[in-house]
Amino acid sequence: MLSNSLIELDRAHLVHPVASYRGHERAGVRVLRSAKGATVTDAGGRELLDGFAGLWCVNAGYGQDSIVEAAARQMRELPYATAYFGLGSEPAIRLAAALAERAPGDLNHVYFTLGGSDAVDTTVRLIRYYQTVRGRPEKDQFISLDQGYHGSSTVGAGLTALPAFHAQFGLPFPWQHKIPSPYPYRNPVGGDPEAIIAASLAALRAKAEEVGGPGRVAAFYAEPIQGSGGVIVPPPGWLRAMRDLCAELDILFVADEVITGFGRTGPLFACSEEEIVPDLMTTAKGLTSGYVPMGAVFLSDRVYDAIADGAGEAAVGHGYTYSAHPVSAAVGLEVLRLYEDGLLENGRRAGARLLAGLHGLAGHPLVGEVRGRGLLAAVELVTDKARRTPLPAAADPARRIFDRAWDNGLVLRAFGTGILGFAPPLCCTPAEIDALVERTRRTLDQTL
Ligand code: PLP
Repeated sequence: MLSNSLIELDRAHLVHPVASYRGHERAGVRVLRSAKGATVTDAGGRELLDGFAGLWCVNAGYGQDSIVEAAARQMRELPYATAYFGLGSEPAIRLAAALAERAPGDLNHVYFTLGGSDAVDTTVRLIRYYQTVRGRPEKDQFISLDQGYHGSSTVGAGLTALPAFHAQFGLPFPWQHKIPSPYPYRNPVGGDPEAIIAASLAALRAKAEEVGGPGRVAAFYAEPIQGSGGVIVPPPGWLRAMRDLCAELDILFVADEVITGFGRTGPLFACSEEEIVPDLMTTAKGLTSGYVPMGAVFLSDRVYDAIADGAGEAAVGHGYTYSAHPVSAAVGLEVLRLYEDGLLENGRRAGARLLAGLHGLAGHPLVGEVRGRGLLAAVELVTDKARRTPLPAAADPARRIFDRAWDNGLVLRAFGTGILGFAPPLCCTPAEIDALVERTRRTLDQTL
């Protein structure tokens, strides 16, 4: 049983990420004690199905012994090696090579970080460097999407377009700009894919003109599926169209695959579904399946070579103590082996079952839309289906739904005004997917 003293210690000392500090103090912490597969066990011994893989990261599921062994072996042999001073470690080098081999096109150069936020931060720094050394320092404006999420570093939080990450923080910076999200369910141009794509292309051109012309724009950032903005799935062809326009306008295209990477939508990288090759790509989460922290930035030959040639013998001043950490890399190698040893395939089967199951909820009076790809899905709730009226924000539907689902033995993500997010581990069995859908149905019935 969870002792009151632990709750008190948490209340007094642990500052939680993206939380109402006072709200959290009132509610008290829920402590997880252990986990196996897709099931987490709380401190009271209650088992819950983790429909969100932690924070969309434990793609391989919990308790994978081979991952634990890979980490322990590496910790015993060489728990740390800096990648500064020309040094390195075998697992980091092997992981970089394995990732480059599997990444789209010529994304052949891998810069390891500790997670997604510093991966995004790394891209901003390297893009500024790239534009400067190629003689285009005036290309210093960055564009991203409304509802986009690109992490919580000072710079990345400005590319992020969620109000809580800006208010009181003095963000975004004046050089960070947004264009509308290609949100099919709530797009002013309607749901027609061609119209949505045309609107996004026009918006990117217009924003570039507004900031002084494409000659001022360094890069455009997009998630192949917008995650934290509410699992927003752009129409097929959107990603390719945006990528092509960026190439035409000499704007670097950055695909943020921190959520979509590593099998979340089916393939290893979501970009490959539209056969696009971004100029830079960010990943994290599924890279190590959340067992240890790690992110990876992929650079195309063109971007890497321009930076390398431009810097010449000078050091490119960007690095972390834990860049290319050998334990994280050893975990990454083992996780990659598991993906290719059946996990991706199981994820694809489970994803098809999940979407079919969730579509079975479409007739529920509260369900406005079911959407997703692979094991990344959302159910958007409304009070009026015809008008697509969101649940009233004042009633804090996200909190209430999360609590009800928890009581029903399901961990899900509930966004803002009632979008339910699902991202279960790729190891889920058919019975677990069915239980997830059934517990969601029960939760919705109780929310009516
Ligand atoms: N980019 C995207 C698309 C994300 O979803 C996230 C986290 O959810 C990040 C960046 C930041 O990653 P991290 O939380 O590992 O810093």
